[in-house]
Amino acid sequence: MNREIFVLIEHRQGEIRDISFEMLTKARGLAQEKQVKVCALLFGTNLENLIEKTTSFADKVLVVEDKKLENFNAECYQRILANLLPQYNPFLTLIGHTAFGVDLAPSLAAQLNFPLVTDCVDLKWEDERLEAIRQMYGGKVNARISLMEASSYLATIRQAAFPVGEGNLKAEVVKIESLLEEIAYRKFIEYLEAAVGEVDITKANTVIAVGRGIKEQKNLALVEDLAKTLGGVLACSRPVVDAGWLPKDRQVGSSGKTVKPKLYIAIGISGAFQHISGMKNAETIIAINKDPNAPIFAEAHYGIVGDLFKVVPVLKEKIAEIKR
Ligand code: FAD
Repeated sequence: MNREIFVLIEHRQGEIRDISFEMLTKARGLAQEKQVKVCALLFGTNLENLIEKTTSFADKVLVVEDKKLENFNAECYQRILANLLPQYNPFLTLIGHTAFGVDLAPSLAAQLNFPLVTDCVDLKWEDERLEAIRQMYGGKVNARISLMEASSYLATIRQAAFPVGEGNLKAEVVKIESLLEEIAYRKFIEYLEAAVGEVDITKANTVIAVGRGIKEQKNLALVEDLAKTLGGVLACSRPVVDAGWLPKDRQVGSSGKTVKPKLYIAIGISGAFQHISGMKNAETIIAINKDPNAPIFAEAHYGIVGDLFKVVPVLKEKIAEIKR
């Protein structure tokens, strides 16, 4: 049997999540280096639509359909993978470093005794060994991790670490019988949708986001003014919500909202990956930060290094002047 690189497709409520396409794109590069193929693993029920969306990003799609897989359940996924992986012996299996993936990967690795490297922002082959890049100190330092030699590796991949490439493959679709028995200890109950507040930041064309750099709640007025002048909405990073300065529905990031506006201005936000994953697809990103090494500048199309308390009033005044 030809060995491959596996990618576990993550989907929720009928939508494939971006991380799956990011992993498939990265897997393709890793597979080309080894001259092997990429195989997507798709588990669920009523999968025709999702299979169609996956085929152009992989050489093969292995499908397991079962009513018990309608919603993600780490116990079910682990049972299927613990059966499939030793059988197919892929060089590497990529899983999203998401709420799903962190629930599944460590337990699966322990069961199979496979080396696991988590939260990777890059991966490459060093001869037969897998080498990973992981970030430390809030993204300021990259650590190179060389894994011990093994026949099959597991890695969880950080969201938004890789761009999505072109889907121009044509996968063979292979359906495998589900051998799942009754689930022993976990049951999906329901999705709890976050309440939509008075402003839906996901629908706005212009989002002005503020972070801990704003220092005090009363200073928010400064950024609110800029948002009004630009006809945009005010959003924020998590510490601003944690401090109770803005409601939860304004939070951008992995545990908040994902926004894709035409313009995103990040003010006094460092650019932690949990924040980036919620705004990386904005058309134009502008960052204002006094620290020239803040990770947000790696994502921004334009950056202003400076004190927000000096920059924002000038910016607001200039925009108002142009609009007059
Ligand atoms: P900081 O990291 O403290 O950065 C403040 C920035 O302001 C610094 O870069 C500083 O240089 C700059 N600054 C300070 N003063 C000024 C000034 N006068 N002028 C200009 N710049 C200034 N975070 C999110 O945002 N969204 C999420 O959904 C999210 N989910 C998370 C989920 C989990 C499970 C965990 C563990 C964390 C999550 N976080 C999330 C938190 C995340 O890790 C960061 O802690 C957070 O994003 C940092 O917010 P910040 O950039 O506002 O603050």
